[in-house]
Amino acid sequence: MYKSDTKFSVLGLPVHVMSNYPYWLLQCLQEGRGTHVVTLNAEMTMQAERNSSLAEVIQNADLVIPDGAGVVLYLQCLLKQEVQRCPGIELAEKLLQEIGQQKTPTKIFFYGGAAEVAVTAAEFWQQNIPGLNIVGTHSGYHSPEEEQKLQQTLAQLQPQVIFVGLGVPRQELWIAKNRHFCPDAIWVGVGGSFDIWSGKKTRAPRWLANNNLEWLYRLYQEPWRWRRMLALPEFVLKAFVYQFTTRSINSARC
Ligand code: UDP
Repeated sequence: MYKSDTKFSVLGLPVHVMSNYPYWLLQCLQEGRGTHVVTLNAEMTMQAERNSSLAEVIQNADLVIPDGAGVVLYLQCLLKQEVQRCPGIELAEKLLQEIGQQKTPTKIFFYGGAAEVAVTAAEFWQQNIPGLNIVGTHSGYHSPEEEQKLQQTLAQLQPQVIFVGLGVPRQELWIAKNRHFCPDAIWVGVGGSFDIWSGKKTRAPRWLANNNLEWLYRLYQEPWRWRRMLALPEFVLKAFVYQFTTRSINSARC
């Protein structure tokens, strides 16, 4: 399978670094190259330490982008790489904008979020970019029987871009298990992006995001996240231990 070329390791997980992610995805789209995109942040990295299925899915993903500030700081400070943060929601938005400008229509599908959220998000995009061809949506809360229907719908429609917003790790595991229904599609786990596009939630102000503090805004908006966010200090600690031990092993080898 074709993978992007510049790859780094963040606590043993891959991160692909390139200057233009949307362009790379447009190429995949043109060539009908099935692609799973993972948007990696510190929280997901810590989840992967405890969940080997998630770790395996991330290892096998075709594109892993540096979504979170922690991952970017790791690449910048510890691996000395000039890397920009690429939030998954922004990659998804750029991809939609690019697709909307193309002459050949691309079939898009939104799956995830509470009832009506994906529909409202799709309406929002359809109004903003009339050239888009959103062929279907599905809520992320449903029975196993409905899931079967969803699988049939996907197999029948063969969307070329499928955004899955079920949260981590549900969306990554779901994509890995179901991508064979649309083997040529670009599958992206988009977390809570439908909530933002539907107007249910708002994103952090840009000055917070630019200062690597988007997580603080999410904590303010959703205080229940505090327990999940303990993963951030854990990530920092692990990052230093990992770097220190790897360096000692390497220098011991020399
Ligand atoms: N969600 C869903 N089905 C579920 C659980 C969650 O559709 O069974 C949706 C939820 O409504 C929300 C998104 O998944 O829109 C998770 O968003 P969050 O911002 O928590 O994602 P994460 O931080 O994990 O990327």
